[in-house]
Amino acid sequence: MGITYSRTDNARHQIRGVTVKILVLNCGSSSVKFQVIEVSSGDNQEKEDTVFARGVIERVGEDDAIVNYKPSGKEKIKSVEPIKDHKAAIKKVIALLLDEKVGVLSSMDEIEAVGHRMVHGGEEFASSVLIDDNVLDRMKECTDLAPLHNPANLKGYEASKEVLPDVHQVGVFDTAFHQTMPPSSYLYAIPLEYYRKYKIRRFGFHGTSHRYVFYRYCKLTGKDPARTSAISCHLGNGASIAAIKDGKSMDTSMGFTPLEGLVMGTRSGDLDPAIHQFVINKEGSDIDEFTRILNKESGMLGLSGKSNDMREIIEASRDGDEVCRMALEVYCYRLKKYIGAYLAALNGTDVVIFTGGAGENSDLVRENSAGSLDSLGIELDRDKNLEMNGKEGKISRDSSKVEVYVIPTDEELVIARDTHECVNKSSGDAATFMS
Ligand code: ADP
Repeated sequence: MGITYSRTDNARHQIRGVTVKILVLNCGSSSVKFQVIEVSSGDNQEKEDTVFARGVIERVGEDDAIVNYKPSGKEKIKSVEPIKDHKAAIKKVIALLLDEKVGVLSSMDEIEAVGHRMVHGGEEFASSVLIDDNVLDRMKECTDLAPLHNPANLKGYEASKEVLPDVHQVGVFDTAFHQTMPPSSYLYAIPLEYYRKYKIRRFGFHGTSHRYVFYRYCKLTGKDPARTSAISCHLGNGASIAAIKDGKSMDTSMGFTPLEGLVMGTRSGDLDPAIHQFVINKEGSDIDEFTRILNKESGMLGLSGKSNDMREIIEASRDGDEVCRMALEVYCYRLKKYIGAYLAALNGTDVVIFTGGAGENSDLVRENSAGSLDSLGIELDRDKNLEMNGKEGKISRDSSKVEVYVIPTDEELVIARDTHECVNKSSGDAATFMS
């Protein structure tokens, strides 16, 4: 097959059988992270996807916003300058990408589409979607469910649409992958009317990461995703674990919000719901304050009183700090319990996958959460586990019934590929991702 071009209404090129570049945007309330990724399709499926440039603008809205930019193969650039809003931030990104010296594009026409990371798609979005006015209205309806994140994501979209009006824009949702969860996983045992009236249910997050490592495992091992089960542990600052059966998410530890589940950097994870009332009464504080504490001052930071950074806690624990050692034990024990629960939920699994900063880099976390599960068919190879920090590969013994893998995640790549697929699918909704 040769290269074929077809013109869309707005005169942008859709290119099949070649590589195309996607601008990936992850807009927070005061930050814009970006990457330009070349994805392969058609005849070029086997070519590796390439990152051309990446960067982040922090303190958007301030006179001293910080711009960090790294073009591939060139030096990192940092500047401090006024960036008054998301639109100004995106204009800055474009100026950098087109810059004569440090740019990676000769024209924005090289960008096939912009892919936006969206936190919450509610029950509206079970896959990535090409954004039009109707989709935008549906996206706005989900704002209620993620008041901290979705407005920022939408601001990013609106700014990007204004600055690049002729470029397709695609939304990729953290929640979408988990929309296959059955009611037994997603319903809370509270009066059902709260689900009916307010959609109070478990949604799950980190979907792009769980999806990426699952498909990557299938690719590495030649397994058919439709017949493969996995327990995927994403251990970043936020952390969640997912039970995946035949390629579909069956359960995950984050719930209505990203506060539920595993112990995280600053978030508590699972908690007796009666603690709220008790603490508020004792401290004379209010629900907003305690919710803030559960999000920002709990988890490893709250337990250790020292840091939310797992590296510092491990180091302190090695130096004999008993409180840090105990915090680590709580973290790993919670994770181990979830692995056990999901082994039961799936009736066994092909693989346990570790990803995210701590999952990819800490042999100690992996050892303490999955190192003594031999009776459940998980036999960790201690030497391989030590060797695999920061790498990709198997860390279980060949005799292990369940494989254990370390797979560095790549959420931006998922966004880029989904974006390309959505643009090239006539219907709009798309993206089963990765063959
Ligand atoms: P985010 O969730 O913000 O994307 P990451 O996935 O990069 O972040 O994960 C950040 C977490 O990973 C931090 O808690 C950090 O301490 C932890 N981490 C990174 N490297 C190591 C390491 N070598 N050992 C233990 N933890 C690590």
